[in-house]
Amino acid sequence: MSSTPTDYDVIVIGGGPAGENAAAYAVAGSDRTAAIVERELVGGECSYWACIPSKALLRPGHVLAAARAMPGISATGLDVEAVLRRRDAFVHDHDDSSQVDWARGNRIDVVRGTGRLTGTRSVEVDGRQLRARHAVVLATGTTANVPDVPGLRAALPWISRDATNLHEVPRRVAVVGGGVVACEAATWLAALGAEVTLLVRGSALLAANEPFAGERVAAALTGAGVRVRFRTEPTAVERPAAKDTGEGRIHGGPVTVQLRGPEGESMLEVDEIVVAAGRAPATEGLGLDTVGLSDGYVAVDDHLTARDVDGEWLYVVGDLNHRAALTHMGKYQGRVCGDVIAARAEGKPLADPRFVASSDHGKVPQVVFTAPEVASVGLTEAAARDAGRSVETVELDIDVAGSALSRDDYAGHAKLVIDSATDTLVGATFVGPEVGEQLHAATIAVVGRVPLSALWHAVPAYPAVSEFWLRLLEARRA
Ligand SMILES: Cc1cc2nc3c(=O)[nH]c(=O)nc-3n(C[C@H](O)[C@H](O)[C@H](O)COP(=O)(O)OP(=O)(O)OC[C@H]3O[C@@H](n4cnc5c(N)ncnc54)[C@H](O)[C@@H]3O)c2cc1C
Repeated sequence: MSSTPTDYDVIVIGGGPAGENAAAYAVAGSDRTAAIVERELVGGECSYWACIPSKALLRPGHVLAAARAMPGISATGLDVEAVLRRRDAFVHDHDDSSQVDWARGNRIDVVRGTGRLTGTRSVEVDGRQLRARHAVVLATGTTANVPDVPGLRAALPWISRDATNLHEVPRRVAVVGGGVVACEAATWLAALGAEVTLLVRGSALLAANEPFAGERVAAALTGAGVRVRFRTEPTAVERPAAKDTGEGRIHGGPVTVQLRGPEGESMLEVDEIVVAAGRAPATEGLGLDTVGLSDGYVAVDDHLTARDVDGEWLYVVGDLNHRAALTHMGKYQGRVCGDVIAARAEGKPLADPRFVASSDHGKVPQVVFTAPEVASVGLTEAAARDAGRSVETVELDIDVAGSALSRDDYAGHAKLVIDSATDTLVGATFVGPEVGEQLHAATIAVVGRVPLSALWHAVPAYPAVSEFWLRLLEARRA
């Protein structure tokens, strides 16, 4: 163990997508040095336990449904083993050497271990002292939240890590939650053959979206055999033969879940229970107290600088700052943060818009990869009205030559939220097969504040699904 601190210009604690980008941008084109401190795998939650494996599990089900809706193709079903093997390939069997090589190729040291702040610009990694000349970036992300239901923790429920890295498919499974992770997990578990019950505390799925999104996803899940139970929550859980069999393995014997719902109390027996009930900031043991902060999400300004710490040396990117818990937004923040660190290190002003994480505010794109997909950017109508904006909306079913050609059972819906004062788009939501691919046009319109009169001249190619943009603009003219 060394008693002399190792100096770097920039130290990043947490090697997920946000931290990786912050480090890379902070040193780019300079001789600055950086270290990423990582206690598990470089690449973070996203690469091994979240975005990548979940999308690898969802895609085969989507392709199968599309094939089944296409006359002339005989599709028999999913080969579960092959689906899991493909997922394993995408998570590199939990080997992060390619990401470590990437870091080293960008002149970033990878320091394995648990990092914690020990004061201004100083970090300790399992007893080893590091010191930052310019900046420390916190990018430790979040962990799954397990609610305080009697018996639930003792039942060793699956969290999202198990569901995305499943090695066996439970015959009967209860998914607790109604948000993105719960809806996606219910989708792939059902596609892989599980009998799924979705236990939703509220009265809608995907409640942060336009209401039609959750309604369509609920209808589709029901159509796929998922029992969606609204206003229903577990009040007690019993699993006498709980057993820690490892990630993605069924954790012991059957689980009895006592439920409270609209019809009163009831019982549900399943072979596994998946908890997808939100995330908690990963700040335990991070030493936030040594710089005057409390455990929990850390507030930042638009340069990603910690708001309540003096000296402009502490930055927070990704899920931990609680601005937009999405990989692409964490990476965006990482880019802005790295540029800000570089500019401050070089004594340059922060006047350029690239030093401001403006898209965190009301311009966030997101795709929920359920069947149908939900793609959204910016504000919902309700959020825009709550923000005091005067808005008009236009919405219609997606029904153009391109959608009909893409699959015989195509069903989709689109809604635009328009700021009446500026005649610009402030929000868009699309629901339908593969509508995620339609989203970036809306993101560009929202971020670029493109007037609708100008969008009229953005002619969609024929016969592509994107022709629904023309139908939306026509509907508004009518
Ligand atoms: C099931 C699921 C599916 C998702 N799907 C999508 C999706 O499709 N698209 C999308 O945009 N987002 C998705 N998300 C969200 C996305 O995973 C997160 O927004 C993203 O991973 C956040 O990146 P991050 O860099 O902030 O943190 P993380 O990816 O969580 O990385 C944080 C890293 O910090 C490390 N760490 C923590 N504490 C310490 C410490 N003290 N010392 C050293 N290392 C530490 C961790 O080991 C981890 O590697 C999904 C999330 C889940 C749970």
